[in-house]
Amino acid sequence: MMSEMLSIIQLGHPILRKKAAEVENIQDQAIQQLVDNLIVTVCEANGVGIAASQVAQPYCVMIVASRPNPRYPHAPQMEPTAMINPRIIAHSSTVSKDWEGCLSIPGIRGLVPRYESVEVEYTDRNGKIQRQWLTNFVARIFQHEYDHFDGIVFLDRLESNLDIVTDQEYQKLVINNI
Ligand code: ZN
Repeated sequence: MMSEMLSIIQLGHPILRKKAAEVENIQDQAIQQLVDNLIVTVCEANGVGIAASQVAQPYCVMIVASRPNPRYPHAPQMEPTAMINPRIIAHSSTVSKDWEGCLSIPGIRGLVPRYESVEVEYTDRNGKIQRQWLTNFVARIFQHEYDHFDGIVFLDRLESNLDIVTDQEYQKLVINNI
């Protein structure tokens, strides 16, 4: 079957606040199709990550797809990676704040505190268990998408409303901070 871009639901849609269900059969064709469609969707939308809940399919499936793009000009390059039923095994004691946005919350960026590194375990799309340490921006993407499984969005993690800016102001900030 062909992959297609899926429509992304926005903040206010009740599914974004719903807890996601674990995937039982990764080889299921509907799950494989979902993974393909999520990869197309996150790339087309210039995202660096997406959770299945954002396309109204509340399963524990995320794509981490860091790459430089107009929304995140300084993002590191990596292959889009599907992480299914992931969990955090360990994390750094250090937390840092950096800018995040969300495809489900257009036009807004926030300075979000996250662990600088996380050790994660997940099942890949071939059904193989993977375990690895993620650091910095990629660790941040993972924690952002992982929150979607619990119905949490980045706005819930902000320390202050003063840490919110519009996309337009964010663009000025990143351009000035190179
Ligand atoms: Zn998001």
